[in-house]
Amino acid sequence: MSWQFFVLVSVFSIEIFLPIRTDDRKTIERVELTEIGKFAIPRRARPTVPAHLHTGIDIKRPHQNYVNEPIFAVAEGTVISKRDDGAYAQLIIEHQVGKLRFWTVYEHIAGLNVSVHDRVTPARPIARFMNKEELNKYGWQFDHFHFEILKVAPIPLKFDPAKPQRLFNSYSLVCYSKSDLDKYFYDPLTFLRKQFNH
Ligand SMILES: [Zn+2]
Repeated sequence: MSWQFFVLVSVFSIEIFLPIRTDDRKTIERVELTEIGKFAIPRRARPTVPAHLHTGIDIKRPHQNYVNEPIFAVAEGTVISKRDDGAYAQLIIEHQVGKLRFWTVYEHIAGLNVSVHDRVTPARPIARFMNKEELNKYGWQFDHFHFEILKVAPIPLKFDPAKPQRLFNSYSLVCYSKSDLDKYFYDPLTFLRKQFNH
């Protein structure tokens, strides 16, 4: 393959990677989920949360690194929403590559080092898994990060001065049937596998 051809292909192909640190960032088998971390599984009602279907996947940290295990954007994009207030810390990134437009959500994360309007690439970490101290504080049920891929734009939120960069919400707690889920979300592992096989 000539150098020029390679550049052309790189410019026009959708470069998508895993959101975690693995050798090639494209081997889907390296993504391990928690016991109840699969997409679309039913989640029981909790005091503040109605019963719902799981709208993403819960990814385990890929190494026994409880200090600074990085989390990456899966593709180039723009940060459109950020909350940084504890166990529910969240980033939402908008991606537009050719005709494909989608949004990714990263939740139960820590060490967020990007802001709203920032352009991100999959090469540099945007956050990390919670460290031991944070898990002791918030609970070890958060020893994973929750990852979603949205088909449609997230829900705009009213401005809250306490969370000035939290501008959008996902459809995480409003999916009660497979058809709800299918309207808003991709199955992340299926979506990524399909991109990697191109
Ligand atoms: Zn989850």
